[in-house]
Amino acid sequence: LLGSDGALSPTIFAEMSALAVKTGAINLGQGFPDEDGPVEVLDAAKRAIDAGLNQYPPGIGMPVLREAIASHQARFYGLTPDPDTEVLVTVGATEALAATILALTDQGDEVVTFEPFYDSYAAMIALSGAEHRTVALRAPDFQPDLDELRRSVTDRTRLILINNPHNPTGTVLSRETLALIVELAHRHDAIIVSDEVYEHLTFGVSHTPIASLPGALDRTVTISSGGKTFNTTGWKIGWLTAPQQILQAILAVKQFLTFVGGAPFQPAIAAGLELPDSYFRGIALDLAHKRDVLSAGLRAAGFTVSEPRGSYFVVADAAALGFSDAAAFCRQLPDLAGVVAVPISAFVSDENKGEYASLVRFAFCKRVEVLERASAQLASL
Ligand code: PMP
Ligand code: GLN
Repeated sequence: LLGSDGALSPTIFAEMSALAVKTGAINLGQGFPDEDGPVEVLDAAKRAIDAGLNQYPPGIGMPVLREAIASHQARFYGLTPDPDTEVLVTVGATEALAATILALTDQGDEVVTFEPFYDSYAAMIALSGAEHRTVALRAPDFQPDLDELRRSVTDRTRLILINNPHNPTGTVLSRETLALIVELAHRHDAIIVSDEVYEHLTFGVSHTPIASLPGALDRTVTISSGGKTFNTTGWKIGWLTAPQQILQAILAVKQFLTFVGGAPFQPAIAAGLELPDSYFRGIALDLAHKRDVLSAGLRAAGFTVSEPRGSYFVVADAAALGFSDAAAFCRQLPDLAGVVAVPISAFVSDENKGEYASLVRFAFCKRVEVLERASAQLASL
């Protein structure tokens, strides 16, 4: 699993952020915001530290956060998980993914994901001993071919692991695709794992959790995180909601990964989840503007751009600028334009890298002036 191309090779995010620090280039590689989140959330964490919430919290998560997660699901999606038995707090969505994959798969099981896929999926599937099968998302709209999806899910499939809205393509899956996933999960007795960390970051479309579709709830694990919604990626407060029996299996693994995490940040994320609707609308509108600024800059620089409908990433094709190898292009980009980005090949299995070879991911969760400066620098390409 180790080695330069193995599932556990160093993550692209560490490499590219180090390159940004070393060269002083603008970091549009690793996805993290360059501004703090809401003051209500920051203040709640400070108050929690002052109030002495600095020891191990309960393994399943603090009641105040589990209740806030359940209320948030009810407010936005009409879902009503039981905060005592169907909500689990984790160390970021990363741990929720890790514990879920390790708990629910055995050697030889198959896990189906879309491709490109978030890099930790392949690593955790490899660590669990399961087989990874992929369904391609292809430019320009990155929607899956439904026949390919039908063919990929079989009786060997244990998990259908989706990410919606999708990193790195910015795709939002259609209701038709979500309904087919539920149907296939029933037909082949698979569990759906849905990574929805970008649930509030959609542009002109609303987010539909797959758990809200008829027949889905009993076999779906929904994963999210406070990092993206409250600009607190460094706090690593994530969570999942799942039927009680499935959650118990995941908790059995989670207790030996980290036991618990982030005591003072848990009530702070709870305060965030209780912010009024206007906050959540506001972050999506703000980000839509940032997407437009960077997309326009990339187009003006000569890239072919796929318009994302969610997440904080935009995919640009460097082939139009004469660069056919995005990995080599990203290594040169700090020198060429003072910008760091990430090649899509980092989210693709070895055998399919060719198809995505010239595609680059840029993060637009940055201040508008930073995006404008990056655009001006990219114009020199
Ligand atoms: N899933 C996806 C699709 C992501 O983009 C990320 C990273 N931001 C994560 C999971 C990990 O989230 P966290 O930082 O909460 O662990
Ligand atoms: N999820 C973020 C991204 O895709 C950061 C990931 C990370 O640093 N592990 O850029």
